[in-house]
Amino acid sequence: MKTLLLWDIDGTLTLSGGAGMHALQVALQQEFGLARPLDDIDYAGRTDRWIMRQIFGKAALPDTEANLTRFLNAYLAELPRALQNPGTRILPGVSAALTALAARPHFTQALLTGNVERGARIKLGHHGLSHYFPFGAFADDSQWRNDLGPVALRRARELLGVEFPPERVFVIGDTPHDIACGKIIGARTIAVATGQYSVEELRTHAPSAVFPDLSDTAAFLRAIGAAD
Ligand SMILES: [Mg+2]
Repeated sequence: MKTLLLWDIDGTLTLSGGAGMHALQVALQQEFGLARPLDDIDYAGRTDRWIMRQIFGKAALPDTEANLTRFLNAYLAELPRALQNPGTRILPGVSAALTALAARPHFTQALLTGNVERGARIKLGHHGLSHYFPFGAFADDSQWRNDLGPVALRRARELLGVEFPPERVFVIGDTPHDIACGKIIGARTIAVATGQYSVEELRTHAPSAVFPDLSDTAAFLRAIGAAD
């Protein structure tokens, strides 16, 4: 029986030390000549496309596909440079968990992230983690995170020929949005308090399990049925 793990990136696998927001600010300045702080947007758990549309709304810029493409391309061009900051890191226990799971052939790892795929690959590639995730669902697929679970399941079916039953799918993330998008597809949900939400806050959204971080590898593997 195979199990599918759908991982969030920011606040779950890695922290980018504000690189994403910084790259958005640089892109906004370069492409649209606007210098404004972006700290009035609650972006945790949101998709890149949703965040950019919020910025367009607040800056009174036309919310067109052409503007979105310009913004995205400038953001992605700046992102590698923005990741060169001391706050960027892999979160505790993540490397050990990914290594342990890669050695278990019954476990498939993929992404379910609000990043566009190119951004996800830049962020994970910065830490040498991209190869763990052969596919995923991204902001390219929808601006709504709740749409991304079905996309991830469809890709698993198309690429692997496997129909994962909901009880063999885990969505792992750091925000209530991750928990919600997992529940919509009937998946089990693992919340991890390494982003902006505490264990107590995440618990109120009733995930299947919640961890302060993933440093207890054995406990995490038990929670997803991967213990030896
Ligand atoms: Mg996150």
